[in-house]
Amino acid sequence: MSRDTRAEISLIRIRENMLNIRKSLPDSVKLMAVVKANGYGHGDIESAAAAEQAGADYLAVAYLEEALRLRDAGMKLPILVLTPIPPELTQLALELDLTLTVTSAKWFSEMRVFKPYASAGKLRVHVKMDTGLGRIGIRTKDEWDELVPWLSARDVEVDGFYTHFATAGQADTGYLEQQAARFARMKEWGRSSGLAIRHYHCAGSAAALRFPHLAMDMVRIGAAMYGFYPEGLACSVKLEPALSLHSRLIQVKKLAKGEYLGYNNSYRAEEDEWIGTVPIGYADGWSQRMQGTDVLIEGQRTPIVGKICMDQLMIKLPGPCAEGTPVTLIGFQGEQRITFAELAAHIGSVAQEVSTSLGVRVARTYIDIEEARTRWDKQTWPNEINQAVI
Ligand SMILES: *Cc1c(COP(=O)(O)O)cnc(C)c1O
Repeated sequence: MSRDTRAEISLIRIRENMLNIRKSLPDSVKLMAVVKANGYGHGDIESAAAAEQAGADYLAVAYLEEALRLRDAGMKLPILVLTPIPPELTQLALELDLTLTVTSAKWFSEMRVFKPYASAGKLRVHVKMDTGLGRIGIRTKDEWDELVPWLSARDVEVDGFYTHFATAGQADTGYLEQQAARFARMKEWGRSSGLAIRHYHCAGSAAALRFPHLAMDMVRIGAAMYGFYPEGLACSVKLEPALSLHSRLIQVKKLAKGEYLGYNNSYRAEEDEWIGTVPIGYADGWSQRMQGTDVLIEGQRTPIVGKICMDQLMIKLPGPCAEGTPVTLIGFQGEQRITFAELAAHIGSVAQEVSTSLGVRVARTYIDIEEARTRWDKQTWPNEINQAVI
């Protein structure tokens, strides 16, 4: 993109975060690195490679196309697709050696059209239980009993049985305990079914770090791998954000007192003021909800003024800065820092909404890729990354 707006990403940070999480858990617990949504905006292939270097045992994505990208890049780790795939894509999933999420007998009956019993290949699945998030999964014993005959087929491997918590990032642990208790009862359904179920798992980042006793056979780490942790909760594992976001002024002007700026005259100068234009807008993930937040310039905080446009936004300048002056939207300038947490709080969301919103027009620059490439295990380093250096 012919502009200076770029996310700077440290793969070494991602690897360190994963190594620190790994160290906080018993060795027997497997580590699944969640790289859906383009690795939470950090680059899916790059993040997966960094996680593999840290010893991740599995990868996870939300949709089949995301897994396809990882396989195309040469990633060999098992990949769990967290959302049930359309049954007609089962053969493609087998070719890609994917692990599929199953939430109903109906899916199996439809899938059998595309993978008849006599056909080659084993279908590796994780059954998803809904213990209270209310999103996807099996809720009742009847639904489970209906599914068991399908799971018992010779060409099906039940590699996992899992659930997901609704409140793992909240201080009050009451609902999480209820969900954990419900999952414990559901595990008994699994154990008494006669199926050889390999991995029971329930914890995402917050649960894995706050309640290591819930780690079971595997933890699914997304947010924490990128350095995100629920605001206001103590964390004993060292996590550092891996992404910072930078741009440069493309225009500087003086606005006279009383003059307007922005669509709908959304800002009026209270005095004579210097204004700078920064080439990032809501089409890049800097939503209009970010109005009222600050950026950094010349080591100082300064507000975004007026409505954020599709491709640009305007900021109040501390003085007549030169065009080309660096602007930081996430990260440090000297002592000053804009954090994911403050941006997330402003828009009433979580850090991962900010990072996953960064659009395709925001270039990703891997600041320590040379070090990663020379020091890390070359056997598992995808070729794609060597070509993708910006
Ligand atoms: C996205 C996702 C995760 C990762 O959660 P984090 O809180 O980002 O670690 C884990 N499990 C499931 C089912 C998910 O959809």
